[in-house]
Amino acid sequence: MNSVAIIGGGITGLTAAFRLSQRDIPVTLYEAGNRVGGPIQTLREKGYLSEFGPNTILETSPKITALIDDLGLGPRRLDSNPAMNKNYIVRDGKMRQLPLSPLRFATSPLFSIPAKLRICREPFIRMKPDVEDESLADFVLRRLGREFLDYAINPFVTGVYAGNPEDLSVRYGFPKLKALEDKHGSIMLGAILGARERKKRAEIEKSKAKKLSFDEGLQVLPDTLHAKLGSSIELRSEVTCLRQTSEGWIVIVRVNDREEQHTHSSVILAAPAHKIAQIQIEADQPICFSLLKEMRHPPVARITMGFRREDVTDPLEGFGFLVPKAENLNILGTTFSSSLFANRAPAGHVLLTTFVGGCRQPELATQSADKLFDLTWHDLQRILGVRGKPTYQHHCLFPQAIPQYNVGYKKFADFMNATEAQLPGFYFAGNYRDGISAGSSIVSGHDAAERVVQFLAASSTDSIPHAVSL
Ligand SMILES: Cc1cc2nc3c(=O)[nH]c(=O)nc-3n(C[C@H](O)[C@H](O)[C@H](O)COP(=O)(O)OP(=O)(O)OC[C@H]3O[C@@H](n4cnc5c(N)ncnc54)[C@H](O)[C@@H]3O)c2cc1C
Repeated sequence: MNSVAIIGGGITGLTAAFRLSQRDIPVTLYEAGNRVGGPIQTLREKGYLSEFGPNTILETSPKITALIDDLGLGPRRLDSNPAMNKNYIVRDGKMRQLPLSPLRFATSPLFSIPAKLRICREPFIRMKPDVEDESLADFVLRRLGREFLDYAINPFVTGVYAGNPEDLSVRYGFPKLKALEDKHGSIMLGAILGARERKKRAEIEKSKAKKLSFDEGLQVLPDTLHAKLGSSIELRSEVTCLRQTSEGWIVIVRVNDREEQHTHSSVILAAPAHKIAQIQIEADQPICFSLLKEMRHPPVARITMGFRREDVTDPLEGFGFLVPKAENLNILGTTFSSSLFANRAPAGHVLLTTFVGGCRQPELATQSADKLFDLTWHDLQRILGVRGKPTYQHHCLFPQAIPQYNVGYKKFADFMNATEAQLPGFYFAGNYRDGISAGSSIVSGHDAAERVVQFLAASSTDSIPHAVSL
């Protein structure tokens, strides 16, 4: 049989399906919605190109590069304008460049002199003994001090997770950061000494990784995967139950109002955690996914606005800005979309992408589109000197946007590891497990496919073709 069921047609499930189909392993990808890609969705309207979810993918792994190349997307790939590789943090209502070199740090107005001296003490701070898990805020307060937490970590975490540093787990949400302390006793020393190890793992440091998209936006990636996978993808097919058998798995799928049953050897569960919690499982040993509904997914609204160039005072030279909680603004941050890539706005115009809500202000995310346009415009007026009315605006809401790797995440990690150990041929993959970025999801899908290949090879007497190495 050797066929694999992949549940969820986001970038994780699509990558896994593509990698398996390259090995001539039959796959069926079940997607509950009527399109693939999850939050990766692009809208071309009135000459503007709006991204619903991610604006860029950070190329931190060769597995991301390989996927793009294997799909033949090299010619359509766009790397963000290197001149725009500056990030800003709002302090006292003004954008301040985030310093990325020691010299820039020393002269940056983002941090006070006492804060800079405090950060220089980091290599001499002792580790906290016997702490199984610690919030990111406690970790940063301990190692780097309050100002660094408020004006670097708080906005960064808001920009990446839409989360709170007081809730996020340093061990599970930022494992590489914690590993620097565990291994070298200091994150600064670890960052310097760890460069060689990163090179060995072919891993690219986030600050040096390329930010990429495609000529017609990020949706080019899921669309191309969809075209390659063709009839292996079943849209409008919501998986409701998984039943273990002696042969493998029966996957029960709701298609319109009908119920269908399909048999597979192996399953990759690449739906969001809060959706997996609703899937019933009937296995040889009692297992229930409902624990996963405790993983928090805050709402996030995304607002894109187009302006005439002369109606925005700021030169928009950079990736965008992030807003620390201490600044008491309504928005979480804004990406200068038309500065990053060509062809995102009509000539003489600019496009700005703003995020609202998250764990900081979940109640704001669910406000009406008109209210969100209004509050976004007012914050952009204060920070960027926006003057005129927008020439274009678009709103979308993700009611359960991004999984939070909060303190206590260990119980989810333990549950997933134990479930996989109990259920042969069954794998969890996706942003709730292997990191929340689109790039991590690609790596997660790739690695899940690799695990399935090994499982099938071990459990089958049929040989698995090895035409393409993963
Ligand atoms: C607003 C926003 C902005 C973001 N910005 C960035 C960014 O700038 N950079 C970055 O790297 N990342 C960003 N991310 C994160 C990144 O986009 C996601 O983490 C990643 O795309 C998740 O991919 P996934 O395949 O794991 O999950 P998803 O894309 O969520 O895919 C899961 C799929 O499973 C389907 N499904 C659910 N239940 C079932 C079921 N029972 N049966 C069948 N199918 C089911 C869903 O319909 C969905 O299509 C952002 C996310 C959001 C929401």
